[in-house]
Amino acid sequence: MYNPSKLFFKKVVTMIEINYQKILEEIEEEIQPLYKKGHVANYIPALAKINPRQFAMSIRLLDGTTYNIGNTKTKFSIQSISKVFTFTLALQLYGRSLYKRVGHEPSGDPFNSLVQLEYENGIPRNPFINAGAIVVTDSLLSKYKDKSFDTILNFIRLAANDSTISFDKEVYESEVDHGYMNLALINMMKSYKNINNHISDVISTYFKHCSIEMNTEQLADAILYLANDGINPLTNEIITTETKAKRINSLMLTCGHYDASGDFAYRVGLPGKSGVGGGIVAIVPDKMSLSVYSPNLNKQGNSLIGTRALELFTAKTGFSIF
Ligand code: GLN
Repeated sequence: MYNPSKLFFKKVVTMIEINYQKILEEIEEEIQPLYKKGHVANYIPALAKINPRQFAMSIRLLDGTTYNIGNTKTKFSIQSISKVFTFTLALQLYGRSLYKRVGHEPSGDPFNSLVQLEYENGIPRNPFINAGAIVVTDSLLSKYKDKSFDTILNFIRLAANDSTISFDKEVYESEVDHGYMNLALINMMKSYKNINNHISDVISTYFKHCSIEMNTEQLADAILYLANDGINPLTNEIITTETKAKRINSLMLTCGHYDASGDFAYRVGLPGKSGVGGGIVAIVPDKMSLSVYSPNLNKQGNSLIGTRALELFTAKTGFSIF
């Protein structure tokens, strides 16, 4: 028979007894056959040449305890994971009025899709697809002008409590030289009057924040505020409000993996955000943040091994939100 106090007891005991390091070791073992699958993000030449055979995973508990496996010191460009931070900043600045320019519904389309944008008169579905993130970057430019990139970078440094975080110039330049789809998106939105600043300023700031590089340990730290109602528990720094943290997490759950967001929720069951650099971040509310890196991507542009590793993690710990 259902017994709530027994269930509570079981959960507490499970938390104390969980051997995270062992679980990470099992995950590393179990993902090995998947190295043959997927491909790196070849539409950005600087990412196309990255060694695909890499894996790293970090867990950061709210009390600061860290568990690591693999190349957790290897830096990679965080790409679309940066959209979590730019959205956090823009939400802080504009509140609800931001949603006049960018929605909060899943798109069900690829991250760089043009099709829906035309149907919907230049208003992107959400801040985590490229078009939405470009609008968010534009909104930051209106406020911070030529200090926009520095503001974003400093915000990430504050969230992660790490002043060494910087960007990868080669990846940035590679995107500037080859970002044809993003240029198409921003031009279309400009024609619908949903971009207020100069296209070249907005797009270069967008490419630059996508090229910010971090390792899995830094990323787990940077995202920890979303596991703790907006406050980094290690520094007590208020990164956002509790309500906004709730909104950001729900958008990560419904939109964090583009047209594979449903699949990620189904398999992993945690709010998460991926980037084509091969990184994924996820949070277990009130418990921990997680970060995975492995460059080979699935069809929708999400780390193939990263997704599987997080799926194994929630299966082994029972820590999905469902
Ligand atoms: N910088 C990449 C782009 O604009 C980000 C995409 C991603 O990580 N999904 O295409």
